[in-house]
Amino acid sequence: MNYFSGRRLLIVTKHGKELVLKPLLEKGLNVKCTVTRDFDTDSFGMFSGEISRKEDALNTVRNKCLAAMARYNCDLAVASEGSFGPHPAAFFASADDELVVLIDLKNDIEIVGRKLSMETNFAAKAIKDKTTFLEFLSQIKFPSHGIILKSKEFNASEIHKDIINELEAIRIFELILAEFGSVNVETDMRAMNNPMRMKVIQNATKNLVEKVNSLCPKCSLPGFSVTQSVKGLPCSACNLPTKSVLYLLKTCCKCDYSEKNYFPRNVKTEEPMYCDNCNP
Ligand SMILES: [Zn+2]
Ligand SMILES: [Zn+2]
Repeated sequence: MNYFSGRRLLIVTKHGKELVLKPLLEKGLNVKCTVTRDFDTDSFGMFSGEISRKEDALNTVRNKCLAAMARYNCDLAVASEGSFGPHPAAFFASADDELVVLIDLKNDIEIVGRKLSMETNFAAKAIKDKTTFLEFLSQIKFPSHGIILKSKEFNASEIHKDIINELEAIRIFELILAEFGSVNVETDMRAMNNPMRMKVIQNATKNLVEKVNSLCPKCSLPGFSVTQSVKGLPCSACNLPTKSVLYLLKTCCKCDYSEKNYFPRNVKTEEPMYCDNCNP
């Protein structure tokens, strides 16, 4: 049976994310999407620092989704949440970690799509001169990507967003600089002002649709997906376990059924050059 076909799905967003969410969800789930127009998702945390997030990303997006569902009296909804910062495995680089969560209250299902990407312009800097400011603008791809100018990082008395061209950017930069001696310049991470981020949200949504369309072989609920990759592929020379993936664990989000998919790269042993024993 199809759990979602023909139902109304609420997209919880304020920053134009429906642009990428709506077509993928309508096609992939056969739902009819409506978008929250006046629901203030900013109260759950803002990137520009006025309101900070109180919980981790998954709980934040879950709470946002549930609050909107109650307010709009809808039993099927999707919300998304991004986190930015150092990449967990490559500390020198910034990463954009996007979550897109689907909640179905009627069938008591929650499915989370995710995409972790290093394709992000995420950056922030206190700048004291125009040359450095112009360099920053070109690095972060302004004006196709937005910026936010503030008098300081936190609790700033001056905050300027939605700056559309370089002349305006320079004018505001110089105003703040004259008054405060330094300008906090940061990338605007709101989806509608950040095409790179919009792309990552799109890929996280694709991941969600894929999971939704993967049914549990036991209870046939949607959301049967990889929840863990387990290391230990044996070395072809010494036969000891390596750090390469031995199997992917797929689990149902509802019942206790799980499956181990061995050898995801279709090789049963690892090259000795990747073995800590043969090539320490
Ligand atoms: Zn070995
Ligand atoms: Zn199941």
